[in-house]
Amino acid sequence: MCNLVKLQPLTLVLLFALSSCTATSHNLSKKIAPGTPNLSQEDVLKHVSQPGTIKIQRLTVADWKLKRKGLINLKHPRSKEAKLKNTYEDVHLYIYILEHPTQGTFFIDSGVASNLTDPDADDYPVKSPVVRKALNFKEFKPLRTTADVIQEHGAPNGVFLTHIHIDHIMGVPDLPKNTPLFIGPHETSHREAKHLGTRGTLNRFLDGAQPFQTLPFPEHEEGQPFSAVDLFGDQQVFAIHTPGHTPGSLAFLIRTENGPILLTGDTSHTAWGWDNCVAPGLFNSDIDETQKDLEMLKAIEEKLPNLTVWTGHQSLSTPRSNTNRCN
Ligand SMILES: [Zn+2]
Repeated sequence: MCNLVKLQPLTLVLLFALSSCTATSHNLSKKIAPGTPNLSQEDVLKHVSQPGTIKIQRLTVADWKLKRKGLINLKHPRSKEAKLKNTYEDVHLYIYILEHPTQGTFFIDSGVASNLTDPDADDYPVKSPVVRKALNFKEFKPLRTTADVIQEHGAPNGVFLTHIHIDHIMGVPDLPKNTPLFIGPHETSHREAKHLGTRGTLNRFLDGAQPFQTLPFPEHEEGQPFSAVDLFGDQQVFAIHTPGHTPGSLAFLIRTENGPILLTGDTSHTAWGWDNCVAPGLFNSDIDETQKDLEMLKAIEEKLPNLTVWTGHQSLSTPRSNTNRCN
């Protein structure tokens, strides 16, 4: 059922309505990823307000145009008030190069594999016309491949995936095959009808890669705004569980020499969405939960006045006006 073969459009519509699939058949390792769970928000914010020794770079690896209704919840009152139309947004794909002083280099998200540079090549991994159209691949413009990034920065000791949507795993084919891949909880067990269309493409990107290792998040404690993992056990890099965009979606809080950085992941795709406290739209697993996650991340921004925020697919304007429109 989960392998999309050549089917008539009506059959496809019925299948979408009646079935649901996991995002990929790629294996989940029994090995639990490293990291220290069970931190209170108070502890995390206390640590990240101190300067750290992590170096992190954000590299733009592709430009793209995607429909706004996927990226911003157009049904939100603020979207209506702003009269937002469902036009194309200019978005970017990023890879983050994180250098830890003793643990080495890690990537956050995987970039763009070399086989995505020529859509007419036989090995172009996005084969489904449905996926190519739905995600507007004709406007997908790779700028540098993950192979280029590895040549410049070295192969990573591991890759933390903010989540496993196509645009975040499409660099995996260029990684050395022994690279550990770390994800959030329930990311591969969750079932959705829309996975039926993307599952084959995801499987192709992940073919031959290491099984995913799940980060050791504690159960979300009542009264705590979020559940976090201290990735290296030295209070410098924290993964925060943001389960709305996908069940295992992650944001990251990172202590650098120049102050804390928040990577929102796809809990916020766009600058407008972040500035106006409006969650992404149809690309979410659960819009209401994503809105809660976004409000939680905006509250962190309010508590850390020198915070730099990097949203999932766009840069914020600077200087920041620092108004929290969630309230
Ligand atoms: Zn994305």
